[in-house]
Amino acid sequence: MSNQYAQVILDITHASLDHTFTYRIPEGMQLDVGSMVIVPFGASNRELSAYVIGLTNTCSYDESKVKSILSKDSSAFNAQGQLVELAAWMHRQYGATMIQALKTVMPVKKKVAQPKKRVISTDLTNEELLDILESCKHKKQHARVRLLEALVTDIEIPYEVACDKLHLTMASMRPMVEKGWITISEERVYRNPLKIAQTLTVPRIALNEWQEEIYSKIVTAYDQQDFTPCLIHGVTGSGKTEIYMELIAHVVDYGRQAIVLIPEIALTYQTVMRFYKRFGKQVSFINSRLSPGERYDQFLKAKEGKINIMIGPRSALFTPFANLGLIIIDEEHEGAYKSEITPRYHAKEVAIKRASQNNALVVLGSATPSIDTYYQTQIGNFKLFPLKHRAKKDSVLPSVEVVDMRNELTSGNRTMFSRSLHEKILKRLEKKEQIILFLNRRGYNHFISCRSCGEAIKCPHCDVTLTVHQDKKLHCHYCGHSEPMPKLCPSCGSPYIAGFGSGTEKVEEQLYKVFPGIKVLRMDMDTTTGKEGHEKIIRAFANKEADVLLGTQMVVKGHDFSNVTLVGALAADVSLFSSDYKAAERTFQLLTQAAGRAGRDYLPGEMVIQTYAPENYSIDTASRQDYEEFYEKEVIYRKMMGYPPVLSMVMIQLSSENHKSLEEVSQKVANKVKELMVTGLWVLGPSEPPIARIKDVFYKRIYLKHQDKEVLTEQIYKIDEYLKRIPEGRKIFVQYDYL
Ligand code: ADP
Ligand code: ZN
Ligand code: ZN
Repeated sequence: MSNQYAQVILDITHASLDHTFTYRIPEGMQLDVGSMVIVPFGASNRELSAYVIGLTNTCSYDESKVKSILSKDSSAFNAQGQLVELAAWMHRQYGATMIQALKTVMPVKKKVAQPKKRVISTDLTNEELLDILESCKHKKQHARVRLLEALVTDIEIPYEVACDKLHLTMASMRPMVEKGWITISEERVYRNPLKIAQTLTVPRIALNEWQEEIYSKIVTAYDQQDFTPCLIHGVTGSGKTEIYMELIAHVVDYGRQAIVLIPEIALTYQTVMRFYKRFGKQVSFINSRLSPGERYDQFLKAKEGKINIMIGPRSALFTPFANLGLIIIDEEHEGAYKSEITPRYHAKEVAIKRASQNNALVVLGSATPSIDTYYQTQIGNFKLFPLKHRAKKDSVLPSVEVVDMRNELTSGNRTMFSRSLHEKILKRLEKKEQIILFLNRRGYNHFISCRSCGEAIKCPHCDVTLTVHQDKKLHCHYCGHSEPMPKLCPSCGSPYIAGFGSGTEKVEEQLYKVFPGIKVLRMDMDTTTGKEGHEKIIRAFANKEADVLLGTQMVVKGHDFSNVTLVGALAADVSLFSSDYKAAERTFQLLTQAAGRAGRDYLPGEMVIQTYAPENYSIDTASRQDYEEFYEKEVIYRKMMGYPPVLSMVMIQLSSENHKSLEEVSQKVANKVKELMVTGLWVLGPSEPPIARIKDVFYKRIYLKHQDKEVLTEQIYKIDEYLKRIPEGRKIFVQYDYL
C-alpha cells in the first residue's frame, strides 16, 4: 500500500514556520522524499511551495483536519532522498533552520528550461573521428571533411553553423547520420560550460614509487570497505593530483562516481582540463560563474548518470550522484571550504557525512594541512600519507630568506623593500624572470586619520575605518558606503589629516618610483570585480605582460607560473595580529604556499619574507617549510588555551538594531547557560566582536567550548528555546558558528 501522508517543510524563511507539516497525498500522486509540492496553507489556504521530507501511512494529527497536497511542483528539480537526510543532519549539526539546510543541499532548485535547438554531435572517440577524417580527405569529400574537422575541435555544432558557415545541407549530412558518425538532435541540449574539443583522453602518467605506494594503500583499504578518511600531506608539485586521478579511475571502473572539491580560486580552466584530458566527457564542473541554466544541466547530467566526475567548490558536494564512491578535497586547508552563510558548515565534515551515507571514501590533500585535519591523523581518526618529494625530476623547493625589517629601519632604509629584496628584484628584471609580491591582507590599512586629535575617519554605519582608494574617495569595505575625502577633520575641524599605512595601491606606486620602467599587475578586490577580472590578470601575467604580480594573498593561491623565480612577502606578520586563534596557522600556510609558487619548474626559486617578528614560530617554521615542527608548537598552544581541535568551540552571535536590548539579552543568555552548570563547559562572553556594528546592526558574541561537540549542540537548542520564551528574545537574531 502506498503512503498516505507526507511531512513537508514550507519554502518560507521564517523561523516560526520551520517545522514539519503533515498533508494528505491525493489518490494516485507519486511522491518521493525530496519532491517539491504545492500545498494550501493557513486559514486562507494560500498556495505555498514545500519540500517533502518524509512519507508515512499514519497520521498523528486529527485526520479530518489534514489538508491535501494540491499538486506536484512541476518546475522543481527534486532533491535526492539522501540529500534531504543530509539537510536534516546539517540542520541539527549547525543550528540552522531546516529550510536553510534544504536550500544549501539544493544549489539547483528549479528546472531551467533547456534550449531546444538542432545540433550536430558525435559519439565517436577522437581516434575514430581522425581515422574517418583521413579517409574522407583521401576521397576528397570536402563537405564531410569540413564538418568532421569542426567536430574535432567542438563538442557540438549548431545546425545553422553547419549550413551557413560550413555549407553543408541536410542531404549531405544524412548519409553521415546513417553511418553513425554524427547525430543531429533536436532534443534537449545540455548547456556545456566546457567549450572544448572531443574526448582527447591522453595516456596517463605512470606514478612514481612514492605515489604508487600511497595509491595502493588507499585502494586496498577501499576495496576492503575501510572508509577511514585519508590525508595526503604532499608538498606542492609532489603529484597529489595524479594520485587523485588514479583513485577516481578505480572508483569509476566499478560503476561509482566521484566528487572533486577545489577552492573556487584554483578552479581554473587548466585544472579542469587536466581532469578532462584524462576522463573526457565523464567530467563536468560547476563554479560560481556558470549561469543557472548551465548549473542545472550539470546537476541533471549527474542525476541521469551521464557524468561520473564532478569538479567544483563546496556546493559540488551536493551533486545528485546515484552511487557516490569517492570525495576528494584538494587544498583542504583553504578557508573557502567553510561556508560564510548559515548553515556555516565545513565541507570536510559534510563530505564525511555524505560519504558515510554511501559507503564512500573521503581523501583530503594539502601541502599545509589544517591543524584540525592533521590532529585527526594523530588521534587515529584519519590516515596520514606523507609525500615528501616533488614529482618532476630537477624541480626543487625554493630557498627562503627571512629579513628582519627592524634592521632595515635602523640602517636607514625607509622603503617597503628590504635591501635584499631590492637586489633580488633587480636581478629578476635583468634576467626577465617574473616576481610575485604580496601583502597578507587587503587594505593593510589605508585609512585617514587626524594628526591633531588622532581620530580615524569611520564609516557612519559600521565600526570600521574608511579606506582611501585611487578615486580619492573614502570607501567602506563592509557596506559599500563611499564619501569624498574631507578637507577638515570631522571630529575637531583640523586641516591636518593624512593617510596612514599602505595598501597594495601604495606598494604599486612605490614600485614604479623605486624601479623605473617596471611593469606591475595589481590584483586585489578592487581590480578583480568584473566576472573575468581575476582570470584576465592571471592570463596577462602568465603571458609575461608584466614583471611583477602584486596583490593580497589571492596572488599566491593555486596558480602556477613557470617563469616566476622570486616571491616576496612584504609584511609577513600582519596576519598574526588578528584576533582569531587560527592566526598563526594562517600565517604558516600562507607563507609556505607562497614559497611553493617560486621555481615551479626548472628555474630555481627564491622567497623573501619581510617581517618585524622573525622569531615568531609560524614565520620561522614556514621559512624552513617544516610543517611537523609548526604543528607540534601550534598544538601545544591550542591545548594550553583550550582551542579547537583540542576542544570544540561554537560562537553564538547575537545581533539587533536595538543596542540596549541586545546587551540585555546577550547577558541573559550567557547567564542562562552558566546556570545550567554543564560539566566541562566553558562559557566566554558576552563580548564585542572586532567590528561591533555593521550597516547599523549591533553585534555581541558568546563562545562556548567543550570536549564534545554534541554537548555544544545541546546548548544551542536550549538557547533557541530560551530566546523563544522571553519576549525580548524575538527581536534578536542569532547565528551559530562552529569554529
Ligand atoms: P600536486 O597536485 O601535488 O601539486 P601535481 O599532481 O600537480 O602535484 O604534479 C606536479 C607536476 O608533476 C605536474 O606537472 C605533473 O604532471 C607532474 N607529475 C606528477 N606525477 C608525476 C610522475 N609520476 N611522473 C612525472 N611527472 C609527474
Ligand atoms: Zn581631528
Ligand atoms: Zn559601512
